[in-house]
Amino acid sequence: MTAHSSRPDRRTFAIISHPDAGKTTLTEKLLYFGGAIHLAGEVKARGDNRRARSDWMKIEQQRGISVTSSVMTFEYDGLTFNLLDTPGHEDFSEDTYRTLTAVDSAVMVIDAARGIEAQTRKLFEVCRLRSVPIITFINKVDREGRPIFELLDEIADQLALDVSPMVWPVGMGGLFEGLYDIEHKKLLKPSKEDNHAYRGDATVISGLDDPKLESLISENARQNLKEEVELAEVGYAEFDEKAYQSGDLTPVYFGSALKDFGVEQLISAIARHAPGPRPQPADPEPVNPDDPSVNGFIFKVQANMNPAHRDRVAFMRLCSGRFRRGMKLNQIGTGKAISIHSPILFFAQNREVADEAFPGDIIGIPNHGTLRVGDTLSENSQDLTFTGLPDFAPEILRRVVLSDPTKSKQLRKALDDMAEEGIIRVFHPVIGGQWIIGVVGQLQLEVFISRLDAEYRVAAALEPSPWQTARWLACDDPKILANFIATHQSSIAEDRDKAPIFMAKDGWELNYVSERNSDIRFLATRERR
Ligand code: GDP
Repeated sequence: MTAHSSRPDRRTFAIISHPDAGKTTLTEKLLYFGGAIHLAGEVKARGDNRRARSDWMKIEQQRGISVTSSVMTFEYDGLTFNLLDTPGHEDFSEDTYRTLTAVDSAVMVIDAARGIEAQTRKLFEVCRLRSVPIITFINKVDREGRPIFELLDEIADQLALDVSPMVWPVGMGGLFEGLYDIEHKKLLKPSKEDNHAYRGDATVISGLDDPKLESLISENARQNLKEEVELAEVGYAEFDEKAYQSGDLTPVYFGSALKDFGVEQLISAIARHAPGPRPQPADPEPVNPDDPSVNGFIFKVQANMNPAHRDRVAFMRLCSGRFRRGMKLNQIGTGKAISIHSPILFFAQNREVADEAFPGDIIGIPNHGTLRVGDTLSENSQDLTFTGLPDFAPEILRRVVLSDPTKSKQLRKALDDMAEEGIIRVFHPVIGGQWIIGVVGQLQLEVFISRLDAEYRVAAALEPSPWQTARWLACDDPKILANFIATHQSSIAEDRDKAPIFMAKDGWELNYVSERNSDIRFLATRERR
């Protein structure tokens, strides 16, 4: 017996996509196939109303299952799937990037009519940094899409990945007649009675010359399919599990999340090919999931999930060991030991009986601000640190101006909370008293202002700041750094960790100053350690 066999198997993954590609619809169908929901429609309701943060509780109450906006768990084929949500456009922030550090694989959803879009590419790059293996799902084949070869070539060229088609659509849109499962030589046809739901009646054929095909699809479709699949077999890489797991090749599935076509092929592919818990990068050495002691890191903090209680939940990715309710874990760097008496264990169908969790699982830890994104928690170690949680340099900087100066304490609290959640970054200029907030995208500002009003009752305005961009400063020689800071005081701020930041009026100034101070590193991302 290997150490693995005693551990329940997990598939911890996220879906990456551009808004509207069908992530919400697919999520719902995955939960459906995983038996976690019985009726369609519920997750969509959440998708339509993403800002309603308490919706997950409603869903949970109604269904008695673990659906949250952050972690969704379901079972399939004897495996437990943990699907981590990456917020869509409205909430889009660094939070999404950090969530991707907590998964072992990803599903990339692409709209067949649109191909790769801006956000798909951005999120893909984050996965690539960590060699996260990616399964591609080209969605909406029930509608007219772009030519299949064009879509496949686009993935291969733009993302520099080998592509390996696993199923092939028999026509698209009005001409759609089904899917051909290349791997298993099966023809999957939409059922006539219920065109809305293909539930797995497949015909096994011996290949594309099998005479059985004649009664299954039209002559025209048969000819096209044969030609296309033959071309694809020559033109694209054969599926190779090693190449997939190292992030060099993506198996490509086609389907329609809306009509359930190809969703079961996708879920089965995740079960068969996607990796279980992978070793996580850490100092002094990576943490192996087979390490018997409990180690994990906080990748997300969500405040005010229940506005009535001002609660805060830190999400820990368990990387090794068997976690038990009530355990004490060291919070590295603070010397504190944290007792985890009421963990939210998402993997269980029934919260009450959930007393333990395994590598790959996510544990929600209610707390009052003790736990922060990037924290390492460890059962036995005092100096282990998970690495690689990125901080991103802001691209928009704004001055926060209070409408009512007596609310400065509340503002401070809101800034602290939202910085902890990764919605914004907060800087304090060395000279001058006003807070500067930095974000990567405009939408984060809108989320910030609306939550400030709704959750903290603080009216504030954002005014332009003299600066456009910011960089963390690092230097091997502390004297040179101190000297730089002293001579550039009016452009220096500190972040919440008191790390020095250089704020530049524009890209030109940044270049100018960094070229003249070549001993200093101007970092666009800072890795939490
Ligand atoms: P998200 O923004 O990525 O979460 O996308 P949604 O799941 O909300 O889907 C965006 C729109 O595309 C919705 O109107 C869906 O009904 C529609 N949609 C999703 N999947 C499919 C599909 O397979 N076929 C068609 N025709 N429409 C789809």
